[in-house]
Amino acid sequence: MNDAQGVEQDADQGLSAKEIRKRRRREPPPDPQPLPGLVDAHTHLAACGGRTREAVAEIVDRAEAVGVSQVVTVADDIVDARWAVAAAHWDRRVFAAVGLHPTHAADLNEANRAELEQMVADDRVVAVGETGLDYYWTTRSDTCADPATQKDVFAWHIDLAKRSGKPLMIHNREADRDLLDVLAAEGSPETVIMHCFSGDAEIARECVDRGYLLSFAGTVSFVNAGPLREAASLTPEAQLLVETDAPFLTPHPYRGQPNQSYCLPYTARALAEVRGVSAEDLAVALGANARRAYGLPLQ
Ligand SMILES: [Zn+2]
Ligand SMILES: [Zn+2]
Repeated sequence: MNDAQGVEQDADQGLSAKEIRKRRRREPPPDPQPLPGLVDAHTHLAACGGRTREAVAEIVDRAEAVGVSQVVTVADDIVDARWAVAAAHWDRRVFAAVGLHPTHAADLNEANRAELEQMVADDRVVAVGETGLDYYWTTRSDTCADPATQKDVFAWHIDLAKRSGKPLMIHNREADRDLLDVLAAEGSPETVIMHCFSGDAEIARECVDRGYLLSFAGTVSFVNAGPLREAASLTPEAQLLVETDAPFLTPHPYRGQPNQSYCLPYTARALAEVRGVSAEDLAVALGANARRAYGLPLQ
């Protein structure tokens, strides 16, 4: 090796630690060992690139190959809701949830109301949401709906869930107390799913007592997730769900990399470890819980 090459290689290596980390962030995690029986209780197929029949099939094929046989794709806004319903009609393994995310609550107008009501009546739509309260973004984004608007629109979604008889899928970020208070004041629908549960043991206990389902995402596998793991370990198995919330919240050790439904077994295994049970048994129970909650066929 001559000097010139040595310098070039050093320069490469100097770049490469940073470059490797950067590349790693863009790279999807490897396929996990299969874990049969699972249902992804909450994902965003359109945001994962699933905007055509073929792209949706590709995402769900990859998930099915590792044991995730069905997915519920969730809307953030009205355009996303149309994608979710389309995906659920394209692929028999996909079901939809429609609603306006609390950050988009200000979008609710007469036309959107009518369209959402019509969508909810669709057989392939299995839940209303995601809806709820997000106080994280109210102070960080100019376009985020204010808390009062969020509460009004949340109440409208609660009523829609009750009228349609479909589960209510809740998004909650930094709004634990207000969220539980609105639900208590309005009266909970029969099935309430706390998606990406983020509370501590005390909030978990209150949700469990109210009969809600707690759905855990990749966050439960994060190294600093102590209180969340406590919540996951006290939730009765019958009230437990697992989800990816893809493309966000990729489980440990792939945090920050792109997430998809095929990554669900990583989180299910983390959940099994927290609860000290077999991952195989828990996966079957989690899948059965999701099918029961959303009324999905066994397929
Ligand atoms: Zn959410
Ligand atoms: Zn979500």
